[in-house]
Amino acid sequence: MNENKSEISINKMEEQASLILLSENEQQAGTKPERKSGKGVSDKVTYKPYDQSQQFLIPPSVDELIPSDHLVRLVNKVIDEMGVEQLLRKYQAGGGAPRYHAVMMVKVFVYGYMTRVCSSRMLAKALRENVMFMWLSGNQKPDFRTLNDFRGKILQEVMEEIFVTSVKMLAAAGYIKLENYFEDGTKIESASGRYTFVWKKTVEKNDKKLDEKLRAYIKMAEQAWEDENAEYGDKDLEELGGKETFSSEDVQELAGVLRQRLEALEDEKAKKKLSKELKTVEQEYLPRKEKYEASKEILGERNSYSKTDADATFMRMKEDHIGNGQLKPAYNVQAGTENGFVVGYDIFQNPGDTRTLKPHLERQAGRLGVRPKAVITDAGYGSEENYVYLEEQETVAVIKYNTYHKEKSKKWKEDKFRTENWEYNAEEKYYVCPNGKKLTYRESREDTTGSGFPIQIDRYECESCEGCPMKSECTKAQGNRVIDRNERLFRLKTKAKEVLQDEEYSKLRKQRSVEVETVFGQIKGNQGFRRFLLRGIEKVSTEWGLLSLGYNMKQLFRLKNKKAG
Ligand code: SF4
Repeated sequence: MNENKSEISINKMEEQASLILLSENEQQAGTKPERKSGKGVSDKVTYKPYDQSQQFLIPPSVDELIPSDHLVRLVNKVIDEMGVEQLLRKYQAGGGAPRYHAVMMVKVFVYGYMTRVCSSRMLAKALRENVMFMWLSGNQKPDFRTLNDFRGKILQEVMEEIFVTSVKMLAAAGYIKLENYFEDGTKIESASGRYTFVWKKTVEKNDKKLDEKLRAYIKMAEQAWEDENAEYGDKDLEELGGKETFSSEDVQELAGVLRQRLEALEDEKAKKKLSKELKTVEQEYLPRKEKYEASKEILGERNSYSKTDADATFMRMKEDHIGNGQLKPAYNVQAGTENGFVVGYDIFQNPGDTRTLKPHLERQAGRLGVRPKAVITDAGYGSEENYVYLEEQETVAVIKYNTYHKEKSKKWKEDKFRTENWEYNAEEKYYVCPNGKKLTYRESREDTTGSGFPIQIDRYECESCEGCPMKSECTKAQGNRVIDRNERLFRLKTKAKEVLQDEEYSKLRKQRSVEVETVFGQIKGNQGFRRFLLRGIEKVSTEWGLLSLGYNMKQLFRLKNKKAG
């Protein structure tokens, strides 16, 4: 059987070899290989006329090259209708040489950020080579410096106002109602280097060490001067010697005292020694102190900043491609959407989302003059402070709290030692434990959260845990079990739970993932914008404003096409 198979394949190979030989022989003999052609099909190759020196009777208009339904036409139209010129006039001083039209520059930047042409050099190139940009600019070609200056100076001043105007236009046209605000945050890397960190802990540690050095030096000098029974200057070292920490003014004062003493000294050896000490104070301690003070001022409440973009904070990036949770200099972008349109944004320097909700919504209310009826966001914002704030504003909080899902689990519900599963008598203020004992109210204490928000904790204690067979499972306390209850937080969580389970709000909660997350996905994923090009919070905010405006134009374009189609 196998022999037959190999015989057949040998025959096939011979057959193919003879065919190849035959074809080679035919070519050698000058015969053309036969080409099959259909009926009426010529085998002659023809080209369309190609003449680069061809003259046009009527020069072509760039406008003719732009399809009537192209996105760039919508960008052009919307910005024309926004009255950008009036807004920009406030920020442009008169006089001087004629400048490029501000409306044209805004159009170029918005379209640039929509199409991944974001740097001023890339934009300048596009204005020379890309027909869409040429059409937008009316064939004007500002160079990259002009573009950069416009973005960094003029646009930075007016970007927020332009964006707010566009949002109001969308509301007036009925695209958004400004009722439901879907908020979320994302981190975008700063343009600064990744290894340019300044850590608060390091600054504080070094500053402490310097204070120790200063204390030791002053103590040593005080002792020496006391032995000499000497007193120099208006203030001697005694005042400085009593300090635990020193400011740069203190170090300057120390240098002044040393200088006065140096002038009064006569002994050359002593003069030389003191002169050396003064040099250390003036040239080492003082600059170091000033540097630490400057760093602390830049840090503010933050734990870090970048040397090359002091506004950027080192944050753990979610989408770190190496997956090692590397800390990078970044900004925390908070944005809110409705009907797929970006309605508001703010840039924050702290990595956590929780504390951004209140300031962001306050700024939004100031910009738009209205507050949303409901705020829909994830559990990262579900803090007592945020719930209280939204309740005060009469805004519905469609926000989960951190244990919302856990509470639904079987494990949680069946855990008989969880106080949430115990009977609670609100009127008489007591719990009943699994051993049937009462845990009665004892005292209240005032406290504050990490952000300084005041809270009240009520303490309850079991009447007696002595001899309880469940004690080892119930508590690690030596005596009676003690529990803390935050009455207000308990009430707010119960309210949040009711909202989340309500049919109408449940729909909004589900909608959240396709609202604001889509914006971040489009900008970071599809447009590939993962790192700011400019440095400083103001400039970064301008960049995000351009991206948001561009995103809204695309959304408008999608909706218009959907309607037309
Ligand atoms: S340890 Fe105390 S609180 Fe816990 S079940 Fe026993 S009696 Fe109740």
